[in-house]
Amino acid sequence: MSPVSLTPIPLRIAALTRERNRLFEYPVERLAGIIREIGFACTSCAKCCTREFNGHVFLLDRDVTAVKAIDPSALEPAPAPEFCDQHGTFYVSGYALRTKEDDAGSCWFLINGRCRIYDHRCAICRVYPYMLHREPDEHGNVDWRQFSGLDRHGKYGVTTGEDESISLARETKEYENAFLTQEIQFLEFMQDYFARHRLRHVQKVYDDRLRGFLKGDEITVRVYINGRLEEHRIQDH
Ligand code: SF4
Ligand code: SF4
Repeated sequence: MSPVSLTPIPLRIAALTRERNRLFEYPVERLAGIIREIGFACTSCAKCCTREFNGHVFLLDRDVTAVKAIDPSALEPAPAPEFCDQHGTFYVSGYALRTKEDDAGSCWFLINGRCRIYDHRCAICRVYPYMLHREPDEHGNVDWRQFSGLDRHGKYGVTTGEDESISLARETKEYENAFLTQEIQFLEFMQDYFARHRLRHVQKVYDDRLRGFLKGDEITVRVYINGRLEEHRIQDH
């Protein structure tokens, strides 16, 4: 878990909406050109399927439906909940894939270096390592990023056909749009939910509960999914 954003919800919604508009305007052909220029080919090393290399795998709602049908125990609330109310309940925008307790933190579905749900793998797993969102560099200048982990995995300089690059670019843009849309819907839902139930985010309660969680206390986390909340009691291992 990491610190939450203290920016008020309406401003966060407005900022994400602006990001989504910028995404809409980004030409597919430009991303496809970058994909061809990099010429990446996957070497099936499976590093990206570990927490050590890639943090957690955040799931879109449609991924959650698919994973629930295969193995519901593969789901866990995504780390770093966005809110904690005055009673100590956390709220997070979605689920993540559970990782195993091995040294690398392998994905629940990784068996002998292979994905056991490959044909049904999650949206982010399909587009990785391509991405299309803006991030600040080491000098704080915000710019687009189109590739994750350049020169840290796979091989480069491989010819990628025009049709394939366009198709990868479209799928990447579609994923980023779905991600931003889910985040915006979560914030709109929470704004309404907090108002209806007379709840509010309290940073001190968040920090106190988080400290307790890291010492082994059980906490309540409500996960946003398909326009509603699912409640879990979780404990750090
Ligand atoms: S679902 Fe499959 S492809 Fe995605 S992280 Fe897990 S093992 Fe890797
Ligand atoms: S995408 Fe990269 S990290 Fe993942 S299996 Fe392929 S080469 Fe390895």
